[in-house]
Amino acid sequence: MFLYKTITSLVTAPITQNIALIRISGSQTYPIINQVFDRPLPEYPQKKPQLIFGKIVNSQKEIIDEVLLLCFYKPNSFTGEDVVEISCHGNLFVVNQILQLIQEKGAELAKEGEFTKQAFFNGKLNLIQANSINDLIRAPSLEGVKLALHNLSPKSQQKLADIENELLDIIATIKVNIDYPEYDGVEYLTGKAVLPRLNKLLEKLNTIKKDGQKARFYQEGLKVAIVGKPNVGKSTLLNALLQEEKAIVSPVAGTTRDIIEARYNLNGIPLTLLDTAGIHETQDIVEKIGVTRSYQALEKADIIFFLVDNSRSWDKKDSNIYQKIKEKNFLLIINKIDELSKLKFPSILSAKKVCRISAKNQQLGELEKEIKELFASDLINNLSPYPYLSQNVACGDLETSYKLVKELSGKEYNEDLLDIIFTFGNHTV
Ligand code: GDP
Repeated sequence: MFLYKTITSLVTAPITQNIALIRISGSQTYPIINQVFDRPLPEYPQKKPQLIFGKIVNSQKEIIDEVLLLCFYKPNSFTGEDVVEISCHGNLFVVNQILQLIQEKGAELAKEGEFTKQAFFNGKLNLIQANSINDLIRAPSLEGVKLALHNLSPKSQQKLADIENELLDIIATIKVNIDYPEYDGVEYLTGKAVLPRLNKLLEKLNTIKKDGQKARFYQEGLKVAIVGKPNVGKSTLLNALLQEEKAIVSPVAGTTRDIIEARYNLNGIPLTLLDTAGIHETQDIVEKIGVTRSYQALEKADIIFFLVDNSRSWDKKDSNIYQKIKEKNFLLIINKIDELSKLKFPSILSAKKVCRISAKNQQLGELEKEIKELFASDLINNLSPYPYLSQNVACGDLETSYKLVKELSGKEYNEDLLDIIFTFGNHTV
C-alpha cells in the first residue's frame, strides 16, 4: 500500500472573501486536526462524511477562527486518504494562521496538483480524469465544461478498462500460439483473428482521440490565422468579430505590423484569432518581421481565413498567398460585398466554397455559420486517426501499448508524464 505524506493547502483563491476552504489530506489528518480543534471529533473512522462545527485553537488555546469541518474517511474521499476540509472565514490572516498551525503539527504544504496526484495513486482517478479536472476548472466556454464533465465520468474509466482487457487478451492469445503452435497456425491467428480485433480496438482509440482533440479545441480554442493581401480588411474583420478596436484599422497598407492575438467566443466555440501583418513582398524592415511572423501564425493555425477583396481584382498578391496556403485547411472569405464587385476568381478556386461578408458593416452571418459547421463536423473529422493495421504486428509492440494504456489508467506510472499532468496550470486541486 502506498503511504502518502499528509498535505495541506488553501484550495480556494488566495484573496479576501467570505469563506475560504483549507484541505488536509493524508494518514496524519485526524491526529493533526485533533490537536487544533477545540472539541473531540467523532470516533475514527466513520462510514459517512461528518460535518462538525467548532473552533480552531492554537497551542495556547487561543481561538483562531470558528469553522466548519467536513470530515471524510479513507478510502471514501477525493484523494482516497483521510481528508478534512475546513471552511473558515476568508480573511487571509486567518487562513495563514490555520495553515501555519497545521504545518506545525506535521502536514506539508501541498504542491501544485498534489491532491489530485494522491487521488491518482490511490486509484481514484485515471490520468484522463485527472486532466479533465484541470479542463473543468479552466474551460473557457460552457461546451468545454460539459466535455470535461463527460471525460470525468466513470464511463471514461470503463472505456479504458475495456481496451486494457482486450489488449491483454490479444497478447495472451498470441503468446499461447507462439508457445503451442501445434494448436493453431500463428499465421492464421495473426491474419484472420487478431488483426480484426486490433482494428476494432483502434476504432475505440480513435473515438477517444477525437474526444481528446475536441476537448483541446474547447479548452485552447481553435487557432484561426487571418491572412490576405494588405487592405483586404483583416483588421476590420477581427474588430468586427471581437466588437472592439483591438487592431488598428487604416486605409494605409501595412498598418498591422505584428500579429494580434485575441480570444473570441462564438456561441460557445472558443476561437483564438491571429490577425497577421499580411503576406506580401516588402522592403520595410519592420514590416518584414511582421511578414515572417505571419508565416509562423500560419504554421500554428488549425484553420486559415483567406480574405480576398470584392472591390479589387484578383492579383499576384492573392495568388502568392494562395500558393502558400493551398495545402492547408483554409476558408475562402470574400470581404467588402457592400462594394461593387471587381473580383473574378481564378479557375483553381471556382469549386471552393466561399463565405461572403462585409466586415465594415458587420455582415458576418455566412462566416459565423461556416465556423459553427466546421467545428461540429469537418474539422474534427479531418483530424488524422490512427491508421488501420494491415500487416502482422509484433507482440512486443502490443506489450508496449498495453503498458501505455496502464499508465493512462493509473496502474503503472511514468514520473515525467505525471509531472506534466499534475503541474498543469500552477494550481493546487
Ligand atoms: P488589412 O490591411 O487587411 O488589415 O485591412 P484593414 O482592416 O485595415 O482595412 C483596410 C480598409 O478597408 C479600411 O479602410 C477599411 O475600412 C476598409 N474595409 C474593411 N472591410 C470593409 C468592408 O467590408 N467594406 C468596405 N467597403 N470597406 C472595408
